[in-house]
Amino acid sequence: MAGKIISGTEVAEVIHTEIKKEVADLKSCGITPGLAVVLVGEDSASKVYVAMKEKTANSLSITSKQLSFPEDTDSKELEGVIAGLNSDPEIHGILIQLPLPRHIDEKVVLSCIDPHKDVDGFHPMNVGGLSLGRTDAVAPCTPLGVIELLMRNGFDPEGKHVVIVGRSNIVGRPLATLLTGRGRGGNATVTIAHSRSEDLPSITKRADILISAVGRADLIDSTMVKPGAIVIDVGVNRVPDDLAPNGYRLVGDVAFEEVSELAGAITPVPGGVGPMTIAMLMKNTVQLANRSLEYKGQDY
Ligand code: NAP
Repeated sequence: MAGKIISGTEVAEVIHTEIKKEVADLKSCGITPGLAVVLVGEDSASKVYVAMKEKTANSLSITSKQLSFPEDTDSKELEGVIAGLNSDPEIHGILIQLPLPRHIDEKVVLSCIDPHKDVDGFHPMNVGGLSLGRTDAVAPCTPLGVIELLMRNGFDPEGKHVVIVGRSNIVGRPLATLLTGRGRGGNATVTIAHSRSEDLPSITKRADILISAVGRADLIDSTMVKPGAIVIDVGVNRVPDDLAPNGYRLVGDVAFEEVSELAGAITPVPGGVGPMTIAMLMKNTVQLANRSLEYKGQDY
């Protein structure tokens, strides 16, 4: 029997409704949450993501400021832009759309963001804060989205064995930190696998909750999943499709048709983790706007 389809689109809608109320409350206190999105270069996928973020922000009455720069923008110029946003009182969240062009050092640029405006949670202060279990640390949006998706569908990871495939700083690692933490959506037992893991199927088959964040279509097939497991597909891959309007379609890392037959529940791509990432970006923006008063002039 086919497993439940976990709709990120539906859960994101519910979160948007909650956010609208929070924005209205903030506005009644004279604060309009403001998000700045910085895009460098011409990456077509990045442009789509930035447009989706702006559209969602507008629909929630969050001020959205998009700053686009040419591919040959240098590091110093970008650092100057970030310094301006750091001191702009109308901006509460700053997002640098990744990946940046190769000549720009991502780590240096991300470190220039004021940690109190670091809406993606990539600044070392927030990465460290999250590892230490600080409740004031900003957590990255995709891992937060995965946790919300699980919790709001009744799949509390507490006590469960979660296998994450992928160890990136954006998804795999912070997700493992949240899942092994003591907070809501935590208290799981976590295994992280990656490209050097031996015998991946024997690892993934032990998962009560299997999360794939790799970026390889059909990496996870039905031989790698325990019957009844909850499968969360973070991967986004473009595969050629002559019938699709753009000549490609989006798929995840999981062979959806066959795995959905034995999984207890599974997220689709698109419509799974993607909308949740954007919803959590909006939630983080509102949270930072809320905190902006208490943090004024204070160190982290
Ligand atoms: P990344 O930085 O490229 O990391 C990929 C990870 O997968 C690495 O840890 C890599 O291992 C591991 N890996 C690669 N090949 C593997 C294999 N054959 N077996 C096991 N592990 C393997 O990617 P990312 O930024 O984390 O993103 C991962 C995917 O999620 C991408 O498709 C991305 O587009 C998608 N994504 C989606 C959202 C969303 O909102 N839906 C958000 C962020 C990312 P090594 O460390 O050993 O190289």
